[in-house]
Amino acid sequence: MLIVMKFGGSSVGSAERIAQAAQLAVDTAAKGHQVVVVTSAMSKVTDALIDAARLASTGQWSPALRQELFDRHEAAADALIRNDPARHAAVLDALGQRLERFEKLCFGLSLVHELTPRLLDAISGTGEMLAAPLVAAAIAARGRPSKAVDATELIVTTDQYGGAEPLMDATRVKMAARLQPSIARGEIPVVTGFIAATADGVMTTLGRGGSDYSASIVGAALDAAEIWIWTDVDGVMTANPSEVPEARTLSEISYSEASELAYYGARVLHYKTILPAFRQRIPVRILNSFNPGHPGTRVSVEGNRAARSVKAVTSIRGVILVAISGTGMQAIPGIAAKTFDVVAAQQANVLMISQASSENNICFVLSAVEAPRVVTALRAALEFELMRGHIDEIAAEQQVAIVAAVGDRMRGTPGIAATVFGALGEAGINVIAISQGSSERNISLVVTERDAAGAVRAIHRAFQLDKAS
Ligand code: ASP
Ligand code: MG
Repeated sequence: MLIVMKFGGSSVGSAERIAQAAQLAVDTAAKGHQVVVVTSAMSKVTDALIDAARLASTGQWSPALRQELFDRHEAAADALIRNDPARHAAVLDALGQRLERFEKLCFGLSLVHELTPRLLDAISGTGEMLAAPLVAAAIAARGRPSKAVDATELIVTTDQYGGAEPLMDATRVKMAARLQPSIARGEIPVVTGFIAATADGVMTTLGRGGSDYSASIVGAALDAAEIWIWTDVDGVMTANPSEVPEARTLSEISYSEASELAYYGARVLHYKTILPAFRQRIPVRILNSFNPGHPGTRVSVEGNRAARSVKAVTSIRGVILVAISGTGMQAIPGIAAKTFDVVAAQQANVLMISQASSENNICFVLSAVEAPRVVTALRAALEFELMRGHIDEIAAEQQVAIVAAVGDRMRGTPGIAATVFGALGEAGINVIAISQGSSERNISLVVTERDAAGAVRAIHRAFQLDKAS
């Protein structure tokens, strides 16, 4: 079967890590599978590139980073393919060309002093273009023919620089033409994650952390049997282990559970990432390259049908509850519409909304970074309602957290809410606001930030999530 294997920054962060990644790819191919690798930049490289671009746009271009990046990648090449001079020279040549391009872009930027999103994409994707030749060389050195392929030749996207969206039909055509023949020959192509190009060939990126998205796009375009995301954790857990020491890795979850968990801050695939795989029902495995013997978490359409109702408990910190209240709000239409118009105009992301049917209060949760400017804008936009007494108050409560219990099989199962709130009651935790969407896959509640860890632990314990399902 065809397997797309994606290695994150920490999984290719050093010569040893790259050797390990290459070995995992070669071992999988040796079992008779066809393998396509998608690689991130070596850890921290993307951050350094973005910092350099920002600095260059203020006129301060220092050529030191080019050398630093060359040295780090060269050292890896030395360790990986020292005894193959031809391959070593070819890799160094590729590194040199790519860094030359990077330097020219930064130099230009330092003259024009304007960093457009388009230019930032051209620069920030350099890290993947440096990592791919190294990974391909390490695979080839282990006896499997392998070539680095820039995703600018494979993935066609919109021109939303900094967060481009794939155009799957065009991508499919390119992917088939460019990759299928070499896959059929038993080669292992190594595709740069994160980057892509518009139909006109202008380089784009898929957003920070976008290599997972790349893997999902490559897998979908090639009709892969599975997509394996190699990272530095054993998989998706029932809770954050720093909050709940007895948290466990989940062996199987559904796409919808994965997206709920991603939304609520668990370290798992971003929901957007999963979509291309999900549309074609391609299972995604989350695996640990530091612990490759662990089976990890499989994300599939069905999930684990035998599992319990609640699968995992997560919390989001650093959020603020904004409450708009007033007895005069009852039966006055349009307050919710006006409120969320303002939130949208401020480009703030609403994490949770709740309004009781008495209509005396609408509350919603925003990140602490976005909340102050939204509240200021709301006070201005709702001035009339405040003056007329329809609204008494727009309050922003500090230091709250959202705690969410997530699971597909919560749907239609009575008694879940009773267990959640019973557990919180017993733990003496006060619940400030509650929300359950009609998908019933998630019950979210707001507690003070101080109570968050206790609330997560209490719910985890009440559903016995420490026990294998
Ligand atoms: N290198 C990119 C980033 O750090 C993409 C990725 O690692 O997924 O955002
Ligand atoms: Mg990364």
